[in-house]
Amino acid sequence: MASTTASGVGLGLSCSTKLSKRTPLYSSSSRSSRLCVKMAVSVEKKTYTLEKSQEAFNAAKELMPGGVNSPVRAFKSVGGQPIVIDSVKGSKMRDIDGNEYIDYVGSWGPAIIGHADDEVLAALAETMKKGTSFGAPCLLENVLAEMVISAVPSIEMVRFVNSGTEACMGALRLVRAFTGKPKIIKFEGCYHGHADPFLVKAGSGVATLGLPDSPGVPKAATSETLTAPYNDIAAVENLFNANKGEVAAIILEPVVGNSGFIVPRPEFLTAIRKLTKENDALLIFDEVMTGFRLSYGGAQEYFGITPDVTTLGKIIGGGLPVGAYGGRRDIMEMVAPAGPMYQAGTLSGNPLAMTAGIHTLKRLQKPGSYEYLDKITSELVDGLLEAGKKTGHAMCGGYINGMFGFFFREGPVYNFEDAKKSDTSKFGRFYQGMLREGVYLAPSQFEAGFTSLAHTSQDIQRTIEAAEKVLAQI
Ligand SMILES: *Cc1c(COP(=O)(O)O)cnc(C)c1O
Repeated sequence: MASTTASGVGLGLSCSTKLSKRTPLYSSSSRSSRLCVKMAVSVEKKTYTLEKSQEAFNAAKELMPGGVNSPVRAFKSVGGQPIVIDSVKGSKMRDIDGNEYIDYVGSWGPAIIGHADDEVLAALAETMKKGTSFGAPCLLENVLAEMVISAVPSIEMVRFVNSGTEACMGALRLVRAFTGKPKIIKFEGCYHGHADPFLVKAGSGVATLGLPDSPGVPKAATSETLTAPYNDIAAVENLFNANKGEVAAIILEPVVGNSGFIVPRPEFLTAIRKLTKENDALLIFDEVMTGFRLSYGGAQEYFGITPDVTTLGKIIGGGLPVGAYGGRRDIMEMVAPAGPMYQAGTLSGNPLAMTAGIHTLKRLQKPGSYEYLDKITSELVDGLLEAGKKTGHAMCGGYINGMFGFFFREGPVYNFEDAKKSDTSKFGRFYQGMLREGVYLAPSQFEAGFTSLAHTSQDIQRTIEAAEKVLAQI
């Protein structure tokens, strides 16, 4: 059904590092926005221009901090300016200049059945006729809750919220309320949303900006957050020993997607599960990214390790804002109004988001979904690594079903420190080259990529051809 490449990401294929001659495609970045205004180069007769995107982004910078509403969208780590999107469909995105891209970001995960799916859109239109938000119970909440509970092994009860960040905030309060203990262990390079207690060594977005922590986060907010390197069991044992009886939970991404794609070593999750039990601590799998992506039951089903609490987001909202946290019934019954742990939300469980989630999951239930993702993603990752080999670039990479990643360095990559040794400036040049070839990758070396049911073998072939061309030039 699914596998990492023969060598896995930790291991990935690597190639020798012959330097090929460098022909920068175009000066990457910040310099001279005026010069960049007309970047016109002929690509198969059509002219590639980002004129309208540039204009829109320049205006946006006056209106919103950095011109965006989420930092990584600003392209800081790959240079150049972001493209402004007009519409999406299937595996494709179209920018406001009319350029089309094969998309491997998928709105950062939700678009697993393809963008703007006809059935999802039709269902949304139907739901919308009845209104957009009730602020009161609706039947659709029951439907999605039942689907989530029957899919995810650890979840017996669920609470819907509006984002992955909220889900992780809720889960954190919950494990503290349930255990009566203050501390949590998180891993370097794992991202659990932007709530204060998690903004310690939080990977991609933060790493990309070079902020070790964020100003504005008081010491008190992170003083109960302990960190260890990913895949390092001894470090976790040491933290438990040094904080006896004080650790409420371990939280982790069971496969990391927020410092690039990093898989757990075979014994890692098993050891973490054992250590939490021995120390009367709970285990939280943050499956905001991996839920319904690595398999229908998430990473926990894929690896056969059941946590106590799980956070979800992204896919379960089918492109609308949703998050969720869930777990064992006795733990979840701590949550208000069943129990004393307060957590609420004006738009939580709203009918539109529930509808998009329900119809996205329904599609994923069809036989062969994950086999298809496995097939398409293996073609992609094998092809990219092969292209690297042909052109003499050191690369490693891996994938599990609809999630993948690669680094410009030899493998293995076991943690964020390893990931940071990747050649990020080469990634920036590769990124810009791929963009003009009509391939939209995540604009940072420290982000995972996503495929969808709408990606075809032809999309993959075009992507690999583009990669060979670009890799030969950088
Ligand atoms: C995206 C993500 C979050 C945060 O979700 P938002 O909806 O962006 O708030 C939390 N954890 C993980 C693992 C994520 O990938």
